[in-house]
Amino acid sequence: MLDPVSPERPGDPALPAPPAPPTRRAIDGVARELLAPLLAARPSPSQWRLVAWDAEQGIQVTLGRGDVMLLVELEARDDARDCFARTERFNVCVRRTFRADQPLGEPERRVVGQLVAMVRAREGALPSLSSAAGGDRPVTSRPSLVREIEVERVLIPEGLGHYYVNPYVGCMIGCEFCYVDERADLSRALEGLPKLPWGRWVDVKINAAEVLRREVREHPPGVVRMSPILTDPYQPLERKFRITRQCLEVLVDAGFVPMVLTRAARIREDFELLARAKAAIVGFSIPTDDDKLRAQFEPGADPIDARIEALEEAHRRGLRTCAVIQPMLPMNVERLVARLAPVVEVVRVDRMYRMDRARALYERAGIPWAAEDAFFERTAKALREGFAARGIRADDLDDLAGTLGVRV
Ligand code: SF4
Repeated sequence: MLDPVSPERPGDPALPAPPAPPTRRAIDGVARELLAPLLAARPSPSQWRLVAWDAEQGIQVTLGRGDVMLLVELEARDDARDCFARTERFNVCVRRTFRADQPLGEPERRVVGQLVAMVRAREGALPSLSSAAGGDRPVTSRPSLVREIEVERVLIPEGLGHYYVNPYVGCMIGCEFCYVDERADLSRALEGLPKLPWGRWVDVKINAAEVLRREVREHPPGVVRMSPILTDPYQPLERKFRITRQCLEVLVDAGFVPMVLTRAARIREDFELLARAKAAIVGFSIPTDDDKLRAQFEPGADPIDARIEALEEAHRRGLRTCAVIQPMLPMNVERLVARLAPVVEVVRVDRMYRMDRARALYERAGIPWAAEDAFFERTAKALREGFAARGIRADDLDDLAGTLGVRV
């Protein structure tokens, strides 16, 4: 069913990839079955409407009414974690898109309650989520896997003129703290794929640009985020496949505004293309100025100097620039602010998530104190004050384009 291709990781010798026919993945069909009543609903303009759905990091649904957007996420059930509601198989999490600071009101709770009831009524027909050891999920002895897949959709609306595109699924940069690992594995389990360690599998959306070319004719232009959440758009495989570049070409030609966030300096190869866009935003995740620490937490990602040099070049070329300081690691705040402030317009500051997974990294690095809330609060305050003193705005709503004032 699936053909393995060599994993590309920094330092690995490049092995030839045996050609394999692209796979049409099954997860979209699984999600369609689960969400069928919602997909078939035809609400009036005054009611909640389905803005988008996605099934690459668990199952996600965006509901909208007027300017209110709700992101509803189904994760594998885990009674130890807080969530909005639980079904037999899922934790259901909800937040307002771009306004996660605002609590849900009664109308929002009611509509999500209806969605939860629909999932409860239909989840029994889903494939088993049991682990390879305990159920019917297939096992594999393969250490890694690259699939070339054909997809039906690439441009996913987030509402309010925003979209996102994931050129790949999975990430061979493979940060140990990456919090999307379990959600991505939930999608693999629903698709009947074996479990593989995070960082050792990637799906390449081989027809992404072709699909996107059709989608940009069907949707109004907007800001399109490509960000290192489910996949870094410039991870090692981009050297070979150039899916990110192909998608950018389509977006730029169609008048969309790409917002590309990455940990990889290879984005420089596409600066000329991005400079042709009516507007383009380039951002880097930069967790610290201490490259020794960076190497302990993000060994597969580029050095800090390479990221800052790429930001400098983006700034010189007139691209809009930002930095996401996440997950905040121990740093010399003054030095990092001094390096970034001349080359970025906006910063976002955020903590480490899923500390249950990340704590071992802090122990190994000998900095357990930096895993505590007090460290994040102290460091975030110092960073915000340092950047503010230099006239750099902070984005507190996870809306970098809005904070930059970029509108389409
Ligand atoms: S680069 Fe981003 S998506 Fe990739 S493993 Fe690291 S945190 Fe996860």
